[in-house]
Amino acid sequence: MITKTRCFHHEDRQAAARCFGCGNFFCRECVTEHEGRLSCAACLRRQTAGIAASGSWRQRTVLAAMLVGGLTGSWLLFYTAGWSLEQLTAPSPSAEAAGR
Ligand SMILES: [Zn+2]
Ligand SMILES: [Zn+2]
Repeated sequence: MITKTRCFHHEDRQAAARCFGCGNFFCRECVTEHEGRLSCAACLRRQTAGIAASGSWRQRTVLAAMLVGGLTGSWLLFYTAGWSLEQLTAPSPSAEAAGR
């Protein structure tokens, strides 16, 4: 039985492997083994780009979370400290009204 599956890029070549990413058939020259999986050039590029993007995205998220957390923490500290100081020093309007 002769298989009629041809390479996605080369119609005159018989497909040797199937891409793990897109499921298309490719010849030996068009497919690359990446992390134990056979991928075409387009899927390989997409995979490596996705890994790089997700890595930097995660790093940026961690940095942003640290920055926001630090700012919020210091703001809360100053805010509560200022609020309690204000409550201690400022005369209460209700006490003033009761005195008169
Ligand atoms: Zn592919
Ligand atoms: Zn090919």
